[in-house]
Amino acid sequence: MSAIAATQKQILDLKKEKDFCILAHCYQSEEILEIADLVGDSYALSKKAMDMPQKNVIMCGVRFMAETTKMLSPEKHVFLSNPVAGCPMAEQLDYDMLSQLKEMYPGYTVVAYINTTAELKTLCDVCVTSSSAVKIISNIENKDILFIPDCNLGDYKKKQLPEKNIKLVHGGCPTHVRMSLKDVERARKLHPNALLLVHPECLPEVTAEADYVGSTTGIMDFAKESAQKEFIIGTENSIVQHLQFACPDKEFYALSKDCVCHNMKATTLVDVLHVLQGRGGEEITLDEEIRLKAKRSIEEMIRLG
Ligand code: SF4
Repeated sequence: MSAIAATQKQILDLKKEKDFCILAHCYQSEEILEIADLVGDSYALSKKAMDMPQKNVIMCGVRFMAETTKMLSPEKHVFLSNPVAGCPMAEQLDYDMLSQLKEMYPGYTVVAYINTTAELKTLCDVCVTSSSAVKIISNIENKDILFIPDCNLGDYKKKQLPEKNIKLVHGGCPTHVRMSLKDVERARKLHPNALLLVHPECLPEVTAEADYVGSTTGIMDFAKESAQKEFIIGTENSIVQHLQFACPDKEFYALSKDCVCHNMKATTLVDVLHVLQGRGGEEITLDEEIRLKAKRSIEEMIRLG
């Protein structure tokens, strides 16, 4: 048995014995996905974890995802497998900066991408995911919207909502903005028959060139269901590998070799094992007042979506 398979077996045995559920975001490595109970996008994982029977949860992802899981399942012990795994975009704005923005735009409804810290969510009116944003924003009565923190996702949604007055703030995912128009031109030249599928966190000039724009799950579903055989993938590069595993009869190419999220890659199998052995990870705690206030923005997302 390889060292990886032996560690995976230890994890699977311990997780059963100690009543743990393992959540893995799609950007995790294949060896982590193999030991997970649930794999998916960030909000979908937190939502599904609510219905899992286990008392303990390990999030293999980044900090805001573990916070959202704790927010929705306060009775569970939620652990972030590697405490250094943060999301630079979720942490770009802090409480004081957003408070100042709200003073600059009084009367605006504050809409936050789910990729925000729990503390920031306490100041927001409603959360959105990349796939639910248009529906939710169009269901908001107010015409004036302050969208945080990703100006690229915000810009993409703004174009689909011309009836709204959407203010964007400068910010975004440092991983997705690495992909440029030059990368698109180069990839199209190398793979003229491939469809270009990109995430809306990409730069506007990149999304403008795409054949399909959608969430990570959306991209994966599109590629699996499409009759086409070749795809250029404009999101975190682990998706290229996962799709190649899932669809061996199709070809997948990375739009850029640089589209790697080092925070998502911080988690290893050994980190997961250490959480189960009680000698690693970080248990997420949220002040009850913060949890309840932040949760309101998610409840509003469910109501409007
Ligand atoms: S890919 Fe971007 S949004 Fe996702 S965790 Fe990494 S930095 Fe954050």
